[in-house]
Amino acid sequence: MVIQETRIDAEELAAAQYFHGHKCPAMPQGLRAGHLAMDVLGVERARGGGELIAIVETGEHHFSGCFVDGVMFATGCTVGKGNLIRKPLGKFAVTLIDTKTRRAVRVVPRYERMSQCLTMDFFKLRAQGVPPYELDPNVVEPLIEDVLTTPWDQVFSVQTFDDYPYDKVPEVFDAVQCAHCGELVVTSYAVRLNDQWYCGPCLDEALHTSSR
Ligand SMILES: [Zn+2]
Ligand SMILES: [Zn+2]
Repeated sequence: MVIQETRIDAEELAAAQYFHGHKCPAMPQGLRAGHLAMDVLGVERARGGGELIAIVETGEHHFSGCFVDGVMFATGCTVGKGNLIRKPLGKFAVTLIDTKTRRAVRVVPRYERMSQCLTMDFFKLRAQGVPPYELDPNVVEPLIEDVLTTPWDQVFSVQTFDDYPYDKVPEVFDAVQCAHCGELVVTSYAVRLNDQWYCGPCLDEALHTSSR
């Protein structure tokens, strides 16, 4: 596959590192994966939220989870906008969907690259509990350089889809007041009982309180 790959410049890397909080190789790998996915689809970074959806396969509390922050920064698919979906599989792939055309691409860091990680000093130190921001820059910087400059097809494999199945969920713009706690709750999360609206916790209470 011939791809005109977007170059990640020093300014973007620095901004992404600021957002992420420290320097590590996994976040830049996600940054590059996100750009590569947009390059393959020929789409711009998400602004509103509905135009792109990213599905990430990393889970919680495992190495290289930082990958997702790079994906978010590159693609504009974020938790807040609701266009970043986590499907925790303990893998490092991202699938980017162009919702207009339903074309999608899954970008997967290659096995050889990810398995190498486990034997690198960086990861050994991390596994020993050394926080990433305390690591010697001489250990981290070459890894970042490597992940950003190695030809993309040695770092990632890509798989494209012409009609990716996904459910479009409309944004809800109304809310009600819970009859019990008095807090505001988005209508799609509220439940009506005996002509009154309840939030989840208060509904549970209402359903489990016996009438005495
Ligand atoms: Zn990190
Ligand atoms: Zn309530």
